[in-house]
Amino acid sequence: MSITIENVSKFFDNTQVLNNISLDINSGQMVALLGPSGSGKTTLLRIIAGLEQHNSGYLRFSGKDVSRMHARDRNVGFVFQHYALFRHMTVANNIAFGLKVLPRRSRPNIKIINYKVTCLLEMIQLEHLANRYPSQLSGGQKQRVALARALAIEPEILLLDEPFGALDAQVRKELRRWLRKLHEELKFTSVFVTHDQEEAMEVADKVVVMSNGNIEQIGTPQDVWYEPASRFVLEFMGEVN
Ligand code: ADP
Repeated sequence: MSITIENVSKFFDNTQVLNNISLDINSGQMVALLGPSGSGKTTLLRIIAGLEQHNSGYLRFSGKDVSRMHARDRNVGFVFQHYALFRHMTVANNIAFGLKVLPRRSRPNIKIINYKVTCLLEMIQLEHLANRYPSQLSGGQKQRVALARALAIEPEILLLDEPFGALDAQVRKELRRWLRKLHEELKFTSVFVTHDQEEAMEVADKVVVMSNGNIEQIGTPQDVWYEPASRFVLEFMGEVN
């Protein structure tokens, strides 16, 4: 599913935090929203998710205006740094959760739910931990479960907000590989928020550099690195976190 963002602006009270943003994301693309803290990345992601309303402009999924569509009807999966697993549920039940709460008409029967959970556990190679609780998992394993949970409903769009932010460098690297692998297998469209240049370069097909509610540059990781479109991009790409 493609995402078209056209002249989107957003205000909180009287402060403008997104300034006439336009961006096309092709179906199956993995796009990183990259920029310093406060540049508007999360707000843009939440608008795509339907968790926040924009004040002007258009948002379309495969050409269809979804501005007024409720978040739960948008067929979008989320992985957020602070969107934790349910502590009182096993790994398997965490993954099954999204399927069990689907409206009755689209909810699969329990056999199909169990089969899907088994497939997802295989995909993230955590079959052996199906009956554990989140507190018994490492940080990296938890976020693999979070990925599987988000993908269980077969979303056409997966949104990730600093999903690996709380993890150490080695585990982050491993999780980026997991994300790429799942993306190659399942071919969802993905938007990934990060303030980490290396993460954006490694994960994304297309990088969108943001600052102060504006898009500074849209390009491949190579474009952004070798041909920064502004002084801001040049300096930001050179900064080490
Ligand atoms: P980023 O994800 O790049 O760190 P955000 O989208 O979270 O940026 O925030 C952009 C700006 O909007 C910031 O100045 C932030 O303080 C402000 N902001 C975000 N959410 C709210 C809110 N719910 N109410 C008021 N201001 C907000």
